[in-house]
Amino acid sequence: MVKGSPRRVTNSVAPQPWFLRSRGMTDTQQSTPSVPPSPRPSIAVIGAGLTGVNAALAFQSQGWQVDLYSNRSRSALRDDLPATGTAILFGNSRVPDRTITDDHYAGTPTAQFAASSVGIAGTPPEASFTARFTYEAQSVDPRLRADDRLGEFLDKAATTSRFIVDEVTPETLDTIAADHDLTFVATGKAGLADLFETDLERTPYDSAQRYLLTVTAHGLPVDHVFRGRGSTVPGGLLSLHEDGEIFVGPHLHKDGADSSDDSDDAWVILAWARPGTATEEAFRSATDAREALDVLQSLHHREFPDVAGDIDWLHPIDTDPHSWLKGAVTPRVHRPTARTAGGHLIATLGDTSVAVDPIAGQGAQLATYQVAGLRDGLRAALDDGRDWDEELLTELFDHHWQEHAEAGVEVTSLFLGDPLFAEVAQEFFASAAADPAAASALFSLFSDPSPALVLRTAADVRSFAASFRAAAA
Ligand SMILES: Cc1cc2nc3c(=O)[nH]c(=O)nc-3n(C[C@H](O)[C@H](O)[C@H](O)COP(=O)(O)OP(=O)(O)OC[C@H]3O[C@@H](n4cnc5c(N)ncnc54)[C@H](O)[C@@H]3O)c2cc1C
Repeated sequence: MVKGSPRRVTNSVAPQPWFLRSRGMTDTQQSTPSVPPSPRPSIAVIGAGLTGVNAALAFQSQGWQVDLYSNRSRSALRDDLPATGTAILFGNSRVPDRTITDDHYAGTPTAQFAASSVGIAGTPPEASFTARFTYEAQSVDPRLRADDRLGEFLDKAATTSRFIVDEVTPETLDTIAADHDLTFVATGKAGLADLFETDLERTPYDSAQRYLLTVTAHGLPVDHVFRGRGSTVPGGLLSLHEDGEIFVGPHLHKDGADSSDDSDDAWVILAWARPGTATEEAFRSATDAREALDVLQSLHHREFPDVAGDIDWLHPIDTDPHSWLKGAVTPRVHRPTARTAGGHLIATLGDTSVAVDPIAGQGAQLATYQVAGLRDGLRAALDDGRDWDEELLTELFDHHWQEHAEAGVEVTSLFLGDPLFAEVAQEFFASAAADPAAASALFSLFSDPSPALVLRTAADVRSFAASFRAAAA
């Protein structure tokens, strides 16, 4: 536990709650390194996935001593494993992300898209529609994003921080937590995550709702227009059929980042299968990138002939045998803190904290908000002379839950077709075919999921969509 520095009075304005005050800072203020408190607090982050690296960089920027533990070397994290997921940042979450570090991919066409063409199997072409986003989504291989940030962390590590390659066990975690003022566990959905109790009230389902198959492939220009679906603008695809859903979108693959060759334009195909369906069986049968792509191309021919010819242009990325992934996400919200066997405080981050099915693209986005919020909350606590203790970490997580995570969980249920949202989903898809505002409103939920907390009826959807009419015009 670290004690904060003495409270300082800086102006005569009536004081706000400490966490609101930190939220009022500008981006520039948040990303400016602060004067390190004395003595310098030390933080351990376990796990160097995207969340762990983001957290390490964010905490390091405050002048805190950060030890980042990884069970893989830097090169193995980048080149020897599949990405945990697609980790698209849909609009709003790019704001907290830019407070962690500069946006290195803003000018890279492959990394951005701002529209999606929706098709529903078995419906006439008029039921298809193209949604123009009210934001720009950024689709970057999380192995690349994490590696770039790990490089930044290491550049500064000589004086303030360390990258330690070590498989942390519950026993060594005890020692690490004893040696640091705070220890965050960002080991993803498995492993050390089980040290934290599941929050049954906040966890939406007790089992995975879909089986997933995803592959990143080359061969289609990034500005491709899916004319077979009636689209006139570049963008991605969202296709719904009885057995599940398929997303197709531009993706900056880790090996394409430095290339100016158009053939390096990469796309991610991410598909969901309802449990017990023939589609799930087909997904489970894939054993490499070629087979995964074959399964997904066949699925398009069977269910979505309008775009199947376009998807056929894609071929596997030879440099990356790990460009595909299959599996399922069992949703879980963990309690934010736990104690090691020796009684030392540990706290959750990223997928260890909140794991959701990726159908609404929430996981990495939530983690980005969480990291930025923790950095600001811990900084504000230090400045206010408040201890970094269990009460503070619980308060910060509750704040994150109220501001972001609860909505992220809800919007995931909406896109999973949860019965609670049956009327809402029906209205969205029916009206979006005729009303561009409804289409934009639907896709705004990927960027700002908070309306999912209140949308319950068709009338709610209509008035929500009306607020997008000016933007869509
Ligand atoms: C198919 C798919 C698509 C997705 N698409 C999106 C999307 O579009 N948008 C979005 O926001 N989110 C998306 N997500 C979710 C997103 O990818 C995850 O939320 C995010 O990548 C999780 O990062 P993490 O660092 O928390 O966990 P991980 O990436 O799992 O990282 C955990 C790290 O900890 C290490 N580790 C594990 N155990 C130990 C140990 N004992 N000691 C040391 N290190 C250890 C692991 O090796 C790993 O490096 C998607 C997920 C999936 C599955």
